[in-house]
Amino acid sequence: MKVIYVDNNATTKIAPEVLEEMLPYLREFYGNPSSMHTFGGQVGSKINQARENIAELIGANHEEIIITSCGTESDSTAIWAAILSNPGKKHLITSKVEHPAVKNLFEYLSKNGYRATFVPVDSKGRLDLDFLYSHLADDTAIVSIMWANNESGVIFPVEEISGVLKERGIVFHTDAVQAVGKIPIDLKRVHVDMLSLSGHKVHGPKGVGALYVRKGTKFSPFLIGGHQEAGRRGGTENAASIIGLGKASQLAADHLPEKNTRIRRLRDKLEDELLKRVPNTMVNGDKENRLPNTTSVAFEYVEGESILLLMNELGICASSGSACTSGSLEPSHVLRAMGVPFTAAHGSIRFSLSKYNTEEEVDFIIEQLPPIIERLRNMSPFWKKSR
Ligand code: PLP
Repeated sequence: MKVIYVDNNATTKIAPEVLEEMLPYLREFYGNPSSMHTFGGQVGSKINQARENIAELIGANHEEIIITSCGTESDSTAIWAAILSNPGKKHLITSKVEHPAVKNLFEYLSKNGYRATFVPVDSKGRLDLDFLYSHLADDTAIVSIMWANNESGVIFPVEEISGVLKERGIVFHTDAVQAVGKIPIDLKRVHVDMLSLSGHKVHGPKGVGALYVRKGTKFSPFLIGGHQEAGRRGGTENAASIIGLGKASQLAADHLPEKNTRIRRLRDKLEDELLKRVPNTMVNGDKENRLPNTTSVAFEYVEGESILLLMNELGICASSGSACTSGSLEPSHVLRAMGVPFTAAHGSIRFSLSKYNTEEEVDFIIEQLPPIIERLRNMSPFWKKSR
């Protein structure tokens, strides 16, 4: 059965060009990049080239890039760095819709001596900026706000926030794991202090990420060890994966225009047709300010998990808006923060496209999904009651 993969915010297919670039560094060039000999040194040079490519994708300088093992490590490193280098400051701000990589660390810190403020969003998933600005305090150690949300695709006004925080001298970190490679990012123009990205979201390998740290930002390493990453993250480099991320960054930069034309058009077609063909259906999130590849569609009065299972039988891979916690299907914290009604949150499906999706695949979903929803609704007591 052919797989139709529209779950690219979860992870992406590794680009063939990326794999090609990596293989020699898994097979023959196994030297330690820190070694004095040429055999290891050549790996070091290739890593430096990769670092340049990663930096270029976000308008940074190569010295401002610290390689990590994933987006989660980048987020943790940034938040701990701000806390440890500002020991007198006990207040932290984030949003209510962050990925668990940020949200759960903030919740942990709020139980361990810090005050954490969680900024709400409106029904379209847009950040309450007045709330954010009115909660800035003299002892705010860090504001961490994602660039784009992984579930709704809503893009936050990072440039505007960065201006305000720069003026106040407050450290600003952004989790840009979903934004990098999908929308243009130029850190020469936008003054964030730290930014997280992840390899496996940009057709690179899993297990590698990067943290941008603006020159001059106070920093404290999370992994204390060897001199790697200029003493900012110890541990022998995951050479092949770093080289893969470098290649993926180069390809992402080349393909950015396509994201905003072909992929956006396919996403819009999928969304418009589903809304047209299936009654009681809506889009979660601000349609204006959204990643070009993402749509979160709520099919009222059906279980998202049932939709996923039936789509799975046809080879269609997507995600639901529920988190299977302790046996109950709770709507995700993102949809809850947006106040999406229970009946819609439960039937929410996230489709996230990539450059590898075709028009035929989108047409297949448009044809196959409406009868699935109809079938499930015919079995739903809630649907019958709503009629
Ligand atoms: N931040 C966001 C917004 C994400 O979507 C993800 C992954 O889904 C992460 C962080 C974590 O990245 P990683 O899987 O590389 O740890």
